[in-house]
Formats: sequence, structure tokens, C-alpha cells
Amino acid sequence: MAYRQGNGARNSGARTSSFNRGRSGGSRKGPMKKFIHPSKFINKATPKAEEVPYESKHKFADFPFGSQLHHNISKKGYDTPSSIQDQAIPHIIEGKDVIGLANTGTGKTAAFLLPIIERQTGISLKPSVLIIAPTRELAQQIDEEFRIFSQGLGLYSALIVGGVPADRQIRELKRRPNFIIGTPGRLKDMMNRRHINLQNINTLVLDEADRMLDMGFLPDIRAILSETPRDRQTLFFSATITPEISVLFNTFSRDAVTISVRTAETSEHVEQNVIEARDKTHKVELLTDLLGQKAYDKVLVFGETKFGVQRLSDYLDNSGIPSVAIHGNKNQSQRARALKQFKDGRVRVMVATDVAARGLDIPNVSHVINFDTPQTYEDYVHRIGRTGRGGASGCAHTFVEASSRR
Ligand code: AMP
Repeated sequence: MAYRQGNGARNSGARTSSFNRGRSGGSRKGPMKKFIHPSKFINKATPKAEEVPYESKHKFADFPFGSQLHHNISKKGYDTPSSIQDQAIPHIIEGKDVIGLANTGTGKTAAFLLPIIERQTGISLKPSVLIIAPTRELAQQIDEEFRIFSQGLGLYSALIVGGVPADRQIRELKRRPNFIIGTPGRLKDMMNRRHINLQNINTLVLDEADRMLDMGFLPDIRAILSETPRDRQTLFFSATITPEISVLFNTFSRDAVTISVRTAETSEHVEQNVIEARDKTHKVELLTDLLGQKAYDKVLVFGETKFGVQRLSDYLDNSGIPSVAIHGNKNQSQRARALKQFKDGRVRVMVATDVAARGLDIPNVSHVINFDTPQTYEDYVHRIGRTGRGGASGCAHTFVEASSRR
């Protein structure tokens, strides 16, 4: 399989035109692509040593949790709460509404799960907790953490996400789980089919609200939220706050405490540069060259469309660079398998669309390569935030086609 265009390239016409169709084919929801000046993709990384680590006021042992929950937290290896956990848990345990401005990697999942689990022990009207996340992967990660933290507490969950058959989910819902964790589309579908009744919900979590709005889920979210009782506890999490999000939060929460743990843009600590390419064929050559270097040991490559991402991953595989792809055309188990292979280090290259990669916790990415430029600068910051996490330094390259420069 070749990406060649022009002289001597077999099949080039068909491939190029189908590639281009994929790019402009409108498979992505949302606004038109905005022009971002390439200078915004260049940055000399500032060293991380300048960051002052957050000094936690509590230890997990200080929180008023039952002994089994404390045991589960220690077993997971958590000792000191992260900033969002330290600040949010005391409010959530008191039953207050919370707006958490936090991105992935801050420990926000445990920040809401732990106090909710504590508060649900002994509540018999079910399901009592609804957690909504933008992507299947994120919902699954939340469910996995829930299972670890709720061990031995007699609390159960149902994971209600799209891309997998509904039968098993319907069976799980019939068993009346305490927690429903899911994505907006499938949740709405299950509500319409009367498999979900939200009248006993006492706690509602909306995770990565900004992403959900970006993905066009606002009508579904409004429909779902309006079916829950008014006197519930509401917890919203979002990495950014826009006027639209403020309206949503104000409509659906009461006297909320706002906690912000957003640090300076992660991009400051990421070495960023632009690599100029003549055209798409050249981009593929450049990518293959980079991936051949030893330092590129855990690389996340971003493409614009589902189709383009799959093609690029297939091409790399055929060129002797094993890769996995995640995008919306893959079903849930394919995505989960791909993610696990990349996380475990069994393949060192993952090619992804923005939407599929959202909210995923992928540690220690050595390089982010923007094979296609992102739609917005915010997407860019999200993309490159995958590298340079924790103490590690990160590196991001953005391919800019000569024709796209202005
Ligand atoms: P999250 O932002 O919830 O996706 O969490 C990011 C990562 O940090 C996950 O791998 C968590 O398991 C981990 N994590 C969260 N809280 C703590 C903690 N207090 N101590 C150690 N690791 C944590």
C-alpha cells in the first residue's frame, strides 16, 4: 500500500482522492476548521522544575469514609489526595453541588467517585447515581475505577455505552444497579425504550462537559437531566468554561462550589515545533522517518478523520511499524483492545482522531505528532497535553503542508 502521488505511483489517484474525500467528507461534527497560524505550534519547553507541587491538606485517612472504602483506596495505592481530590471531596461528602474545573490526569475520577460511593452505602432506592461521560472509553475507565473502589460494599454499576449490543446492558439494568455510567446517546436511547428510569437518582455527574457540548450532545444532556429529580446533588467537571457551559451549570446546579485545579497550560512544558511538508505524501514519509528513530517509543499521532486515521494506521502496519488506530468507526471492544495494547507498550504508535482520544488517560507518551493540524487551538492544547505528563518532558511536532500556509 502506498501513499505516493504523482510520478510513478501506482494507484495514487484513487488513494489520494479517497483520502481527500475523507478529509472533507464531514464525518466530524462541529464547527468548520479554523486557521491557526503555524507559529502557535512552536514553543521552547519551560522546565517543569519551576512548578510548585500542590501541598495536600488531607491524607486519604482523614476523610470520613467507611473502613472498607479506606481499604480499597490503600489497595489501589493512593496515599495523598491530588489537588482536586483534596479540595472537592470534603464538599461532595457534605452533599454540596460542585463545579470542578479540571482536566484529565488530575485525579478527578476518584475525586467524585470516592465521596459518592461513601454516600450511597445503605441507600436502597436504585439506580441512585448517574454518571455521564462524552466517550465510551472514558465511561469505561470510570466504571473500572468504580469497580475497584466499591469492592466489598455491595454496590453495582451498569455501563451503558454505544457501539456494543444493547441486550447485555438491558439485562444489567433489569438487575437495578446502584450506579449507571454511560454516554449520552445510548443513555437517551435506553430511556426512550423505558429500560432506564431516573426517578431515584440522588447524584448526577457530568464529566468533561465541555467535550460533550463540542460533540453536539447538549440536547441529549438536557433531556436526560430534566428526567432526574430536582433535589439531587449535581457534580460537573470540565476543563474549560464557556458561556454555554456556564448556562448549563447554572440551570442544573444549586449553590455550587467551584474548584479550579487548572494549571498553566500544559503546552508550556512541551517542546513544540512545526515540520513543513510539501504535501500529504511527504507527510507520510516524514512520519515514517520519525517513527524509525529510537527516541520515539510511545507516539500518539493525530489525524482529522476516522477514514484518514485508519488508512494511516494500515499504511504504517504495512511499512513494518505496528500501530493501533482509535476512531469512531471502531466498535467498543476494538477500541478498548487498541488502547490497552498502546498503554501496555505492546505497540508504540497509536493513531487517533480528536474525539476518540478525548479524556483518555494514557501515561508517558514520548511524542505527539499532529499529522493533520487540529480544528481549533483548544484541540491542539488537548492533543499535546498527552505528552510531558508528570515529571516527564514531552515533545510535539505539527506537520504543516506548504499549501496550507498563509
Ligand atoms: P484521572 O484524572 O481521574 O483520569 O486520573 C489520572 C490518573 O491518576 C489515573 O491513572 C489515576 O489512577 C491516578 N490517580 C488519581 N488519584 C491519585 C492519587 N491520589 N494518588 C495516586 N494516583 C492517583
